[in-house]
Amino acid sequence: MPKQLYIETVGCQMNMLDSELVVASLRKAGYVVVDTPAQADTILFNTCSVRQHAEDKIYSALGRLKHAKKHNPDKIIGVLGCMAQKDQKLIFERAPFVDLIVGPGQLHQIPDLIEKIHAGEGRQMEVSLDRKAGSRELVEQSFESYDPLRDPQMRPTPFQAFVRIMIGCDKFCTYCIVPSVRGPEQSRPAAHILAEARQLADEGCREITLLGQTVNSYQHTADGQTTRLSDLLAELHEIEGLARLKFVTNYPKDMTDDLLWAVRDLPKVSPYLHVPAQSGSNRMLGRMKRGYTVEEYREMLVRIRETIPGSAVTSDFIVGFCGETEEDFHETVELVRESRFKNSFIFKYSERPGTKSFQLYPDDVPEEVKRRRNNELLAVQNAISEEDNLPLLGQTVEVLVEGPSKVAQRNDDGASNLQLVGRTHCDRIVVFDGNRRQVGQLLDVAIYDVDDFTLFGSVVTQHVGPEVYSL
Ligand code: SF4
Repeated sequence: MPKQLYIETVGCQMNMLDSELVVASLRKAGYVVVDTPAQADTILFNTCSVRQHAEDKIYSALGRLKHAKKHNPDKIIGVLGCMAQKDQKLIFERAPFVDLIVGPGQLHQIPDLIEKIHAGEGRQMEVSLDRKAGSRELVEQSFESYDPLRDPQMRPTPFQAFVRIMIGCDKFCTYCIVPSVRGPEQSRPAAHILAEARQLADEGCREITLLGQTVNSYQHTADGQTTRLSDLLAELHEIEGLARLKFVTNYPKDMTDDLLWAVRDLPKVSPYLHVPAQSGSNRMLGRMKRGYTVEEYREMLVRIRETIPGSAVTSDFIVGFCGETEEDFHETVELVRESRFKNSFIFKYSERPGTKSFQLYPDDVPEEVKRRRNNELLAVQNAISEEDNLPLLGQTVEVLVEGPSKVAQRNDDGASNLQLVGRTHCDRIVVFDGNRRQVGQLLDVAIYDVDDFTLFGSVVTQHVGPEVYSL
């Protein structure tokens, strides 16, 4: 009987990629993936620590497994990723029936650790060193990048893949737990990234998204030669079979001209840049220790738009950060109004033990004020998104078809014609009727309706002249 694995992933694209790689390694060890915890004999949670809510969800999911473990003590329950690194033994204290705790830097050890549990060696915990626990070199070594060969079946779609180009972060924004749980910033050797991308292209992958916490800070030196993100994009661009290259998430201060020129000059690179601003108030940016002013962020936006006309820029904002006044918030609203982001991800500040802002500032903006500011900013952004989608009415856009839309997935009756979803080169979501065979293809779609988030269209069928019939 194959062993049954259930894995649940919360958090960012980095976590999705980590889960993909963990599943690939466990498949090699004879596991099959099942859809529910009840069917599984190994249950893994790949966790996120960026917001309290994400952690609370995992602790309640663990709580629900207490009885299952009591009735079936051989079931293995594991907590992986950022929360494992942050809470470590605390997880064993809060959920004593957990067998396995593995930080993001030790994911490659999971098959062996599970073996040890089966062999009666008791519960296992492997995490990286604390950032202050030794020299930088020692701490870096304890966060091992995990990028083994991939199982194509585990990708979100066979023609799209995430590729990690760096791990960790050295920016230490005061609200953020990532530098502690993901460790020091380390770029992967360009040769490894290119080899992985070539393998993905050989397997039929059309679109690669390069991942890094501050992806545009990428820099790797080998044999006296330094590769920046712009150089890496130029090399990836040469790989046959790849049609689109994206990269997330960008750090405003590292948005250098060479990178913008690469996006402008390399047709496979999507003219889409996600560059979180976080706030429109210099007072808040200072408290967040973001390392730039609103004026510098605006200057960066001007450079992006002058260099890559028509590019789509998206952003993140935190509302209700410690000490945020109505005036600070209105400066953020102003920045959103004038910047015309394609969309923005807006979050209410959630204090995280272990961060500088937790130590330095009280979380003093009441929850209802955070909620109101969140809704207000979202309404401003959504109105802009819809306005900026309107000029696309009647236009034809090229779409990479990702698969059935959510509606079609819910009502899937196996028919070949169904509602499909895809994305434009600048990451706009497009919904249209099509055929299952079109999944993975680049298609022209004529847009007949838009809202703030989605374009609706129909596939443009090629004109077939009489000369073709006569052949
Ligand atoms: S740049 Fe700031 S917000 Fe982004 S991961 Fe690093 S510390 Fe966190």
